[in-house]
Amino acid sequence: RAQADLAHAGATCHMADGTRIEVVANLGNLADVAPALAAGAEGCGLLRSEFLYLDRDSAPTEDEQFQQYQAIADALQGRPLIIRTLDAGADKDVPYVQLPADENPALGLRGIRMSLFQPDLLRDQIRAILRVRPWGQVKLLLPMIATLEDLRRVRAVVDAESAALGRDVPIKLGVMVEVPSAALMAARFAGEVDFFSVGTNDLTQYTLAMDRCNPRLAPQLDPFHPAVLHLIALACQGAATRGRWVGVCGNLAASALAAPVLIGLGVTELSASAKALPEIKALVRGLDMAQCRALAAQALELENAAQVRALLDRAFPGH
Ligand code: PEP
Ligand code: MG
Repeated sequence: RAQADLAHAGATCHMADGTRIEVVANLGNLADVAPALAAGAEGCGLLRSEFLYLDRDSAPTEDEQFQQYQAIADALQGRPLIIRTLDAGADKDVPYVQLPADENPALGLRGIRMSLFQPDLLRDQIRAILRVRPWGQVKLLLPMIATLEDLRRVRAVVDAESAALGRDVPIKLGVMVEVPSAALMAARFAGEVDFFSVGTNDLTQYTLAMDRCNPRLAPQLDPFHPAVLHLIALACQGAATRGRWVGVCGNLAASALAAPVLIGLGVTELSASAKALPEIKALVRGLDMAQCRALAAQALELENAAQVRALLDRAFPGH
């Protein structure tokens, strides 16, 4: 019985109407892989590579990084692995990156912006990621992308390093949707990326202009807010114009209750911490698309996060 449960937990996830939804894990390091697989993860939707950079006084070498990424890919036994480039800056401090302090760090050099100001660090990280075998298992994800120019500058590095390594399978490249401009411009991004991953923690912060670390604002900082859902809807519509897929890897995806709305908006991948996965899978397996679309349309008409939560509580009591 326990073994049957485990096999079921590890199986791919389909809705009641047969629609495939990928349910994957957010990972912070190698030690997170085993618990994620035990919880039924179909792969990794977000590896936060910060673990390699924070709490030390010099940058990790390319080889050091490669070994860590390869170990995680191996532990996933061929399952998909999405590696996000360094998302430092703002609340994530990297002491050996010597940049003048920003007056407003959340709007300053964080995420991909910091990487682009440290081209050697970015190049080492991209080379380490490109070297992981087998080619095709790993996808590359870029944090804090606000403009097409940001993306193109990174793309140029990826192309140059791929050519230098003689890699003949192009790596799949995705952008985080965590700045409203990325959602608003999704149709344009869709012509130049393979996928999108919505970071609802930052998307909520930047949509509502509320610092995600400010305890006084915490009660209002709710990713169920219809304004955030509207931006996710735009991201999905833009992605669909080129047949690109959209996942969600922010904390909103960890609420099983959010799954019906996100799926109704067009999301096809949910990535969350291991402990959230069994409930998400159980709920998703009972859903059908018509119901999800109707709920999403209703949620978009509401005024605030509390109303969206109430709508979902009524539809799925007990979750
Ligand atoms: C997010 O912003 O939702 C996200 C997944 O990234 P992080 O929480 O690491 O900033
Ligand atoms: Mg983020």
